[in-house]
Amino acid sequence: MLKRRKTMLVKVGGVKIGSAAPVVIQSMTKVPTVNIARCIRQINQLVRAGCRLVRIAVPTRADTAAFAKIVQKVTVPLIADVHFSPNRAIEAIEAGAAKVRLNPGNIKKRESILRIIDAAKMHKTAIRIGVNEASIRDLKTGDVPMAKRIALMLSEMKKYVRLFENRDFTQLVLSAKSSNSLRTIAINRRIAEVFNYPIHLGLTHAGLPEDALIPSAIALGTLLAEGIGDTIRVSAAGNPVVEAETAKQILITLGLYERTSPELIVCPTCARSQIDVVKLARRVKKALTGIDKPLRIAVMGCIVNGPGEAADADLAICAAKNKACIYRNGRKISVVPENKIIPALLKELQNF
Ligand code: SF4
Repeated sequence: MLKRRKTMLVKVGGVKIGSAAPVVIQSMTKVPTVNIARCIRQINQLVRAGCRLVRIAVPTRADTAAFAKIVQKVTVPLIADVHFSPNRAIEAIEAGAAKVRLNPGNIKKRESILRIIDAAKMHKTAIRIGVNEASIRDLKTGDVPMAKRIALMLSEMKKYVRLFENRDFTQLVLSAKSSNSLRTIAINRRIAEVFNYPIHLGLTHAGLPEDALIPSAIALGTLLAEGIGDTIRVSAAGNPVVEAETAKQILITLGLYERTSPELIVCPTCARSQIDVVKLARRVKKALTGIDKPLRIAVMGCIVNGPGEAADADLAICAAKNKACIYRNGRKISVVPENKIIPALLKELQNF
């Protein structure tokens, strides 16, 4: 098990962030907040995909009014995402937000921030201070060297944190985001050195899934492997369920999330392959849906290397011409025709 950095504990509704609490997956809804039914549907999809917190943007008064209704109808604590408007932050807190995300780049007025802090204190609402590279004026133009970027982001964070601490508010989660993986790694290492608050990790404006997921996995994976990061959001344009599933995969890979469903391993296929491995693997994956056993299932394209490579699988299907050999814990238990592979696998699964 990876050693995690010790932090203060922050409570977001019933969910604990930081200290010894497990890393929390979160994502954001991407439908209009005022469309309450769609919003609730998406929140429920995210919960099924592994999210324990969901963030919702509340740009208008109508959105915070909708937020108040949504909060009543979902099982996860909700985070209000606020930009520019202190009133939206206070309305969201009064509506039942378990946490509010503020960007120091766009709510700077001391009095406004103090009003938000007082409301958050009264309602026991946590606050995330989210510094975004793109919101810092001096970082918007030109080629700013990495060291200067990190120093500017850190100083922005320090100023903001001081304001909260001077008002006796410490239910804080910190984040510093960039669309660049290396800069995200560098700034978060510094934040982990300087502050004792839990850290929210994520990239911002990372791109379409095919461009965004690998940079997120590298940045978040590197930091989490160093023990840094208490809640994560993978950011990608499109369906947020993909974000949640990717976040879960990152945590499973690092041993930070307990698997409850089967893991499917598939050989990459080569000229020795005796079957359409991808098609078979897709069928197996579909058949495994809903099975709540943390088993390792392998689909291999041949019986030359397949059995050896899948020796650590609980069940392995190794394809031969028009048939497949099924192995259990490395031992061959049956040979079935191609059209009987899935029923045979499902039957074997019952024995676990
Ligand atoms: S298991 Fe067989 S088919 Fe698959 S990659 Fe290895 S050698 Fe090739």
